[in-house]
Amino acid sequence: MHNYNDAKALIKAIQPDESVTLVRPHAAKRAARYFVDNFPGKSLYAVKANPSPDLLQILWDEGIHHFDVASIGEVRLVKSLLPDAILCFMHPVKSERMIKEAYFEHGVRTFSLDTMEELEKIKRATDNADDLNLCVRIRVSSKYAEISLAAKFGAEADEVADILMAARQCSVQLGICFHVGSQAMTPAAFSDAMELVRAAIVEASVTVDIINVGGGFPSSYPGMEPPSLAHYFETIDRSFEDLPISYSAELWCEPGRALCAEYASLIVKVEKRRGDELYINDGAYGALFDATHIGWRFPVRYITPKPSDATDLKPYSFYGPTCDDMDHMAGPFHLPATIAAGDYIEIGLLGAYGCAMRSGFNGFEAGEIYIVHDEPMDTLYGHHNDVDRHNVVSIQQGQ
Ligand SMILES: *Cc1c(COP(=O)(O)O)cnc(C)c1O
Repeated sequence: MHNYNDAKALIKAIQPDESVTLVRPHAAKRAARYFVDNFPGKSLYAVKANPSPDLLQILWDEGIHHFDVASIGEVRLVKSLLPDAILCFMHPVKSERMIKEAYFEHGVRTFSLDTMEELEKIKRATDNADDLNLCVRIRVSSKYAEISLAAKFGAEADEVADILMAARQCSVQLGICFHVGSQAMTPAAFSDAMELVRAAIVEASVTVDIINVGGGFPSSYPGMEPPSLAHYFETIDRSFEDLPISYSAELWCEPGRALCAEYASLIVKVEKRRGDELYINDGAYGALFDATHIGWRFPVRYITPKPSDATDLKPYSFYGPTCDDMDHMAGPFHLPATIAAGDYIEIGLLGAYGCAMRSGFNGFEAGEIYIVHDEPMDTLYGHHNDVDRHNVVSIQQGQ
């Protein structure tokens, strides 16, 4: 992969016609190191957030050795790249054939489930294996999260005890897991969920060996600046210590977003300007799904190879490159009043989900990937770069 110091140097050198992904290995390393050193338990990486092989290798090298996988495709991918990785199949609804392949061909021993039916499926598919670690997914609220994960999965309070008791019979380690929703904006999301874990343990009166608090750890986007991760870790640690579990019980988490959001950004070119609408060469079917479908406002900055005094900023919306009206990102994204066709914009913090959800719809394929060495537009991991931050225009809180 080619290296540049930053987006500006890249544009000066190559004036890309297609959108370009910039990756920052140092940012992913820093995030992984932070979780490895500070989370009061074991950190699994949720592969769906960004399955890029380079990123998986970086996380592995920094000490993340457990991976939360949700499909047989992710199982195969991680095993092929990192043969010694420990995979946990945490999708609560799997096909029997996938369970079989994961167990017999890839050595997967940890599975999640949220129904008796799934438990029976796992037992059948593994020929009643006696070395399983089963995690029962309970339903918790997503009320503090920007993206809900509350409706689809999770056993209800009145079913949990039966499932836990049945799963206990065929588990070496029995776990309880949950997901508070993605981009959870307060640590209370986790302490509230831990109260439901407590109730489940008390009601089932089983020995629980693993508490898996899932993902949901936030990143810092314009208008969504969360408290520090240290607060989340303290809250989780305190709630965990209070649970009626054995002295040797393990605490796990499965961050996706927090480990990779800062890893990648995107350079896009303005193809056309129509008033306050900018037609750019990436969009809803590219790396900007969340900007379109949940109105997420990613940080943006104007990149110009020339000296610029473009400080008079205006709000813009974006149109992506495909031919339909849905390829639209409302923003607002604040950029110079003088911006025009041919100019470039860097869109930050797209390492989580954005890059992973790209499609080649309408012939707009992913462009080249380059390594850059500058700081991401924002970071949760200290080292705020004041000069950079000054350039990042964010929406006032509450707007
Ligand atoms: C998506 C997902 C994660 C990661 O969630 P983030 O909000 O990106 O941290 C973790 N665990 C499970 C089961 C998931 O489905």
